[in-house]
Amino acid sequence: MVTYLDHAATSPPTREVLEAVWPYLVQVTANPASVHTPGQQAREGLERARATAAAALGCRPGEVVLTSGGTESDGLAVLGIAPAVATARGRDRHLVTTAVEHSAVLEPARELERRGWRVDVVGVDGEGRVDLDALAGAVTERTALVSVMHANNEVGTVQPLAGAGGVAALCAERGVALHVDAVQSAGVLDLRELWALGSATGGVAAVSVSAHKLGGLRGSGLLAVRSGTPLEPLAIGGGQERGRRSGTVDVASAVGLATALSAAAARRDREVVRLAGLRDRLVAGVLAAGAAAGVEVALTGAPLGAGRLPGHASFVVPGLSGEVVLAELDLAGVACSSGSACAADSDDASHVLVAMGLSDDDARSAVRCTLGWSSAEADVDALLDALPTALSRSRL
Ligand code: PLP
Repeated sequence: MVTYLDHAATSPPTREVLEAVWPYLVQVTANPASVHTPGQQAREGLERARATAAAALGCRPGEVVLTSGGTESDGLAVLGIAPAVATARGRDRHLVTTAVEHSAVLEPARELERRGWRVDVVGVDGEGRVDLDALAGAVTERTALVSVMHANNEVGTVQPLAGAGGVAALCAERGVALHVDAVQSAGVLDLRELWALGSATGGVAAVSVSAHKLGGLRGSGLLAVRSGTPLEPLAIGGGQERGRRSGTVDVASAVGLATALSAAAARRDREVVRLAGLRDRLVAGVLAAGAAAGVEVALTGAPLGAGRLPGHASFVVPGLSGEVVLAELDLAGVACSSGSACAADSDDASHVLVAMGLSDDDARSAVRCTLGWSSAEADVDALLDALPTALSRSRL
């Protein structure tokens, strides 16, 4: 039995998702754009799923654009909304984002730069929290789009989006649209509160969600786009999703996404407490194991509490290679990760940890343990049982 502690990379689909999806894989299988009866049945399932997802987000069904996941949603926001806003609203070709965004935002931002855009990448503090003064200095009334994530995938830090002086208010005051990558927070933070941080005139205008981080299917997600927000589609063709994302819609995936979102919203309060309890025991145990083994282990990101995702624990073990520790844990049947699964096959030190002020070497010693819906006390026990040997063998 493998102990799975890598929910930030992906979570297994929940049983309720599999049960909800099954009829749309074997019975209701027509193209939802077809006018015949089976097509209409598929369309009904699709629109029900869209309405359910919209309710979980607090937006209107027509504001939900179904996509193939977080990467496509982020790309559509940066490459689809920013240029459309610049044209439609006469804004500067200017994007503001942060140094700790996922590559799904940073790479499209670089693409805009290659096209001649000015891109300001705002730094973060030692816990990975965006520098609000720097952000306030970078965003002007002429900025086309700001993109700041809800919570970080590598260190679990929740960004200060809400409240006076927060990112959303700062954008709203300047009449600027804000895109939020909520891929890691969906399911554990309140997306309705997030959506309420915007209006037709500024603040949160687009939110990215990926189904597979909260028990839906891989290859499925959505971008919520506030009505009135200009958007140039990236996938053009048959005009599905009201022309914002062409391609035959995968009804089963949409049903899975909606089921996962609404189920997560319904049990969120309990689940947050449960995950934080497991996580706090895990962190205390890992720090104690380091002390007992004479190995320096430090928590990275925000301290345990409301400013951090409840199921997220991330460490550095300076002096050791994170990859070696992970390989030793893997040998013991415990699956953790170094940080971003997407950069796992690259030798580069994590851009997130480096932006937080860590040296390249320390950043290469990262170990991330993330919990989700299927995690239990036994998973924490298994990690803590395996850790002393893994640490001592990593020192050899
Ligand atoms: N944004 C964040 C913060 C992520 O953690 C991830 C995936 O790890 C993505 C975007 C990409 O999502 P997807 O895997 O659905 O393409």
